Amino acid sequence: MSNTDFALAVEDLTVSFDGFKAIDALTLYIDKNELRVIIGPNGAGKTTLLDLICGKTRASAGSIKFKNTELTKMAEHKRVRLGIGRKFQTPSIYENLSVFQNLEVSYPKGRSVFGALAFKCTDEVQAKVQVVAEEIGLSDKLDTEAGLLSHGQKQWLEIGMLLMQEPELLMLDEPIAGMSARERELTAELLKRICANRAVIVIEHDMDFVKQIAHKVTVMHQGKILAEGSMDKVQNDPKVIDVYLGH
Ligand code: ADP
Ligand code: MG
Repeated sequence: MSNTDFALAVEDLTVSFDGFKAIDALTLYIDKNELRVIIGPNGAGKTTLLDLICGKTRASAGSIKFKNTELTKMAEHKRVRLGIGRKFQTPSIYENLSVFQNLEVSYPKGRSVFGALAFKCTDEVQAKVQVVAEEIGLSDKLDTEAGLLSHGQKQWLEIGMLLMQEPELLMLDEPIAGMSARERELTAELLKRICANRAVIVIEHDMDFVKQIAHKVTVMHQGKILAEGSMDKVQNDPKVIDVYLGH
């Protein structure tokens, strides 16, 4: 297969922090419309891998190709424009703006808060906000101040803010941390919906949740891939049980 058949092709990727390889010659391919879950013990390099893909951290060696474009030397904002969205562990929503306004300011034409508030709300933006609000289950909360949302709803709003930019690759780092059981169920449904139009990478620890959403699971350990495949396959892999699931 050529690299164009994948949403993302990571090859021999390495990053060293003072000689310590947090990511060590890692190779990983993500298909278009795939929902991949990355698991592994703390310190395995999962967050660092997302940092490298989004451009927060620069690679020491190797290649990251997205839509057949080499990313490793590209600035972070250019990767966003190319279609890469990243959600960090702590949500960065505007607490004193409404749900509607949070989504509106995330529309690519009005990125800064002040620019977007002055910006006339066109039918196009309105329509997009409605579609995204529906996708994230917040249609009936559009006028609510974001600061008043539950923890889970804030997480969904931030996912919605990323969806406003129509990313072709969306990366989420531990999205259900701190959520209630019901919020976790709804998040699983949400993720299954949004991967219909894009590739999604999720880092997660909760194995019940991983089982519900994963197409394929990648297990990382010490900056490398320890195992990869179906949930069933990795769950029964003695190496995986030894370093991760057995604890
Ligand atoms: P995970 O998300 O799998 O728990 P991380 O990617 O956060 O793991 O971390 C992997 C390793 O890289 C850890 O040992 C961590 O301390 C180290 N690390 C991550 N970022 C940096 C950095 N900017 N400088 C130095 N060490 C780092
Ligand atoms: Mg992490």
